[in-house]
Amino acid sequence: MPRVNISVKLDGVLETDVKRWRAICSIGLAFAIPCESLYGEWFSDSQPIMGTNIHVEFWHEDPAAARDALAAVIDEMHRIDELMSPFRESSELSAINRGAGAAPVAVSAELLALLERSAEVSRMTDGAFDITYASAGRFYDYRKGVRPDEAQLTAAVQAIDYRYVQIDREAGTVRFAHPEVYVDLGGIAKGHAVDRGIELLRARGIDQAMIAAGGDSRIIGDRRGQPWTVGVQDPRKPGTMAVLLPLEDTAVSTSGDYERFFERDGVRYHHIIDPTTGDSAREVRSVTILGPEATLTDALSTSVFVLGVRAGLTLIDSLDGIDAIIIDGDGRLHYSRDLLQVEP
Ligand code: AMP
Ligand code: MG
Repeated sequence: MPRVNISVKLDGVLETDVKRWRAICSIGLAFAIPCESLYGEWFSDSQPIMGTNIHVEFWHEDPAAARDALAAVIDEMHRIDELMSPFRESSELSAINRGAGAAPVAVSAELLALLERSAEVSRMTDGAFDITYASAGRFYDYRKGVRPDEAQLTAAVQAIDYRYVQIDREAGTVRFAHPEVYVDLGGIAKGHAVDRGIELLRARGIDQAMIAAGGDSRIIGDRRGQPWTVGVQDPRKPGTMAVLLPLEDTAVSTSGDYERFFERDGVRYHHIIDPTTGDSAREVRSVTILGPEATLTDALSTSVFVLGVRAGLTLIDSLDGIDAIIIDGDGRLHYSRDLLQVEP
């Protein structure tokens, strides 16, 4: 279970006691720094990788070892980007998209495992999560305001079905059972990268850390006795937080319709695609998932965005240790069952 301590105000606005913690923190800081710096300090780095901002932050007692750990995480993010980016001709993912429609393509164990994980989430979400969404998704360009025409979309939707991705674990190959299939791991790869980064830090003995890749974060430990704070953005007020979550030892992912989009005739075309239509899912504005690891929270935030409030919460309430906060099309907040059992 994520350790979340939130309270819901009568007007429905979610509040936390983070502000109070912050105040206590800043008063205490003046006294704490000279003392703490004898035993360690915070190290952090932020870099644009995987088409997003990667942020790494942790507590360490040895500056040289800390710099080494920061570099290791950043290198790992570049490695995963080179393996899984749909925008790099040289990535393994691009090799699959070029060849698997015609013949089996050999892939690394890591990519194979993430493809299997994706299929697992597809089965769990009844196909709301589907990496073959890209058979249609590749015809959108959100920066340029481009979308497929009706004929293109109708043809492309025929090639969306996660069951078309056939994995042969023994042979280490992937093959598509339809020639027009195209896959994209944008809904799960950042979570995977965050989990890998956390593993690297743990292997170096670091136990108070946070790694964020855009909307996907994972936290280990607390923040020197305080919780870490992760904000859920107000989907229609950039830079304003709708919810603040004080967290420890948790992964948290947010998917929102404000991240990559354009509007045409009053309709918002954004990057989360309903696999049944090839069009953007429009029931909700954002979904935040809390859980033990970022690969799953990343994939589930995208999935619940497609499923909408009712089906999404039914799914989340059936899963142990996973919680959700959904902001619907009218800006109203919805919580999974365990989050509603809040402390007064
Ligand atoms: P996120 O911000 O984690 O929700 O991921 C959004 C990304 O997931 C998009 O940019 C696409 O790359 C990918 N995506 C969009 N729709 C789907 C879907 N239905 N299933 C799986 N991945 C998707
Ligand atoms: Mg996601």
